[in-house]
Amino acid sequence: MPTAVSPVFDSTKVTVIYVLGGPGAGKGTQCSKLVEAYSLCHLSVGDLLREEQNRDGTPYGELIRTCFREGTIVPMEVTLKLLQNAMSAEMKIRSGNGWTDGRGRFLIDGFPRTMDRALKFDEEVCLPSMVIFFTTTEEVMLQRLLERAKISGREDDNMESIMKRFHTHGNQTMPVIQHYRSCGEVTEIDSTASVEEVYREASAAVSKLLHTPVA
Ligand code: ADP
Ligand code: AMP
Repeated sequence: MPTAVSPVFDSTKVTVIYVLGGPGAGKGTQCSKLVEAYSLCHLSVGDLLREEQNRDGTPYGELIRTCFREGTIVPMEVTLKLLQNAMSAEMKIRSGNGWTDGRGRFLIDGFPRTMDRALKFDEEVCLPSMVIFFTTTEEVMLQRLLERAKISGREDDNMESIMKRFHTHGNQTMPVIQHYRSCGEVTEIDSTASVEEVYREASAAVSKLLHTPVA
C-alpha cells in the first residue's frame, strides 16, 4: 500500500506566505521591506536559481540558463529541493521573534508558478498560510523591468525574455492565482502605486496574519 507523505514542516508552526505577481510587479521590493519589519525570511526562487546556476559542480547550470533566457519555468524537482533546503537551513540558524520552538516565517517570492508545483509543495514541504498577489499592468511592469535592466545585470531583463516571461505568467501562473482566489486565500494588492503606498497594504495583510501590530 502506498504510504502517505506528510509535509516536512508543520504549518501550525511554520508560516509560509507565497508572494506572486508578474515580472517587475514589485515582489522583491516589497519582500525586502517586509523582512525587516516582521522577522521574516525572504526566499526568492529566482535568486535561489541564480545562486544554483553559479554553484560549482551543479548539474543544473545549463538548464537554469535556458529557462531564464526563454522565460520558462524550471522543473519542479529543482525548485522544490532548493526551497526545502533553504528553509531547513534557515530554521537551524534562526532564533528569536517568530523563530522559537520549531517556529518559522517565510516569504516565498515567485512560487508556485504552476498548479502541480503548488500541490507538490502542499504535500511534501508545507501548507501555505496566505498568498499575496501584486498586480499591475504589463506596461508598468515593462517600464520597471527596462529601468531595472540598467543596473540589475540580469540576462533576462531584455525585451525578448520579458515578453516570454509575461506570456508564461499569463498562461501558467494566473491559473494558480485563480485557484487560490477561489479558495479565498489571496490578498490582492495593486502595485501600480508608490513603493510606500503598496507597502502600507502589504504590511497590513502580514500584520493581520501574524497577529502583530502594523510595522
Ligand atoms: P519583481 O521582484 O516583481 O520582479 P522588483 O521588486 O524587482 O520586481 O521591481 C522591479 C523594478 O521596479 C525595480 O527596479 C524596483 O525598484 C521597481 N519598483 C518596484 N516597486 C515599485 C513601485 N511601487 N513603484 C515604482 N517602482 C517600483
Ligand atoms: P524572477 O527572478 O522571479 O523574475 O524569475 C526569473 C526566472 O527564474 C523565471 O523566468 C523562471 O525561469 C525562473 N523561476 C523563478 N521562479 C520560479 C519557480 N517558482 N519555478 C520555476 N522557475 C522559476
